[in-house]
Amino acid sequence: MIHWTTRLLHPEARPEKGFRSLVPPVYRGSTTLFPNAASVNESWRQEAGYTYGLHGTPTSRELAVRIAELEGGLRTFITPGGQAAIALIDMAFLSAGDHVLIPDSVYGPSRELADDVLRRFGVEVTYYPPLAGRDIESLIKPNTRLVWCESPGSVTMEVQDVPAIAAIAHRHGAIVALDNTWSAGVFFDAFAHGVDVTMQALTKYIGGHSDLLLGSVTVRTEAAYERVGQTHDRLGLGASPDDCSLALRGLETLGVRLDALEQRTLHVARALAEHPAVARVLHPALPSCPGHETWRRDFTGSTSVFSIVLADGTSREQTFAFVDALQLFGIGYSWGGVHSLAMPFVDVARDHGGPHRRSSYGDRLVRLNIGLEDPDDLVADLDQALRSAGIEQAV
Ligand SMILES: *Cc1c(COP(=O)(O)O)cnc(C)c1O
Repeated sequence: MIHWTTRLLHPEARPEKGFRSLVPPVYRGSTTLFPNAASVNESWRQEAGYTYGLHGTPTSRELAVRIAELEGGLRTFITPGGQAAIALIDMAFLSAGDHVLIPDSVYGPSRELADDVLRRFGVEVTYYPPLAGRDIESLIKPNTRLVWCESPGSVTMEVQDVPAIAAIAHRHGAIVALDNTWSAGVFFDAFAHGVDVTMQALTKYIGGHSDLLLGSVTVRTEAAYERVGQTHDRLGLGASPDDCSLALRGLETLGVRLDALEQRTLHVARALAEHPAVARVLHPALPSCPGHETWRRDFTGSTSVFSIVLADGTSREQTFAFVDALQLFGIGYSWGGVHSLAMPFVDVARDHGGPHRRSSYGDRLVRLNIGLEDPDDLVADLDQALRSAGIEQAV
């Protein structure tokens, strides 16, 4: 007889088998058991099965194959957040002496990663105008290895001509990466438009409820699979199976959420376009958004985040007063959930982008995320806040 404390770790009792849930189970595990000594290995490769928790559990792999399926990619790697997915792509494809092209409208922390880390590792960084299209060719150097796109851009929302940029990049032997978070990997078919590797902050629409942080990197080719997979392994970018399980739940309602968010957001954006206190609405589906024609050509829908530029002459104090007067909008980062949010990006050039960031919107830019509240209530709230900040009078 073994001691009862040993029995705690080596039980004979087993519950009934045969349970089938509609829901993928949450598998936790650092250690993964091998059937015998000869089969021990530490491969990160997905087709090698399971070797260590860091390389994936059935829960994180389920999410990975579902994202690959959604985006039409070959393979997907799950990361602890969207920013980690960006870092994974940079680390996978860039080496000392290489040159990377990044759109000026890129997600702020991606720029900070390039400026503070990539440069330190000997990578040359150039920011290009997001609407460059095929004019990007003049910025390509013999050592240009990676061209980033993000469409629409963060905060200023420029829609990029990704096919034109990809064609030029490929002609010069560079890889094209896309931050496809805004489209949820759904409304812009990246791989059909020439992109080699995509990432998403699953934190946004796939999670969908502001309660998790996850990212994904999806590749189209075996060569990119090798590069990204090896780097994902070397950097140790494991993801929590609990968060993956929440993201899998989010996927089930992604269709209805995106549909409802798109309609509500268009309703609010169109109302704001008519408002005398608003100079410009930066929503890709509206003609007032830079790159709108490209959105019409390349996208099959729109989502819930866009920006507004307040009337000429609006002061920073008035922009803050407007945001503070909103009753139904929270003030906070991130987006893609079911709650409406507002975030002022005053003087983007000085505070958020560093010396390269081009924006003529000064202190008048506010980003909105529209949630699942009644859109007429949101419009009424925005109107009362614009009035109470005295912005209408500034017209
Ligand atoms: C939020 C966001 C990220 C980063 O995602 P996290 O999960 O917050 O790290 C990357 N790109 C874009 C465009 C984002 O909006």
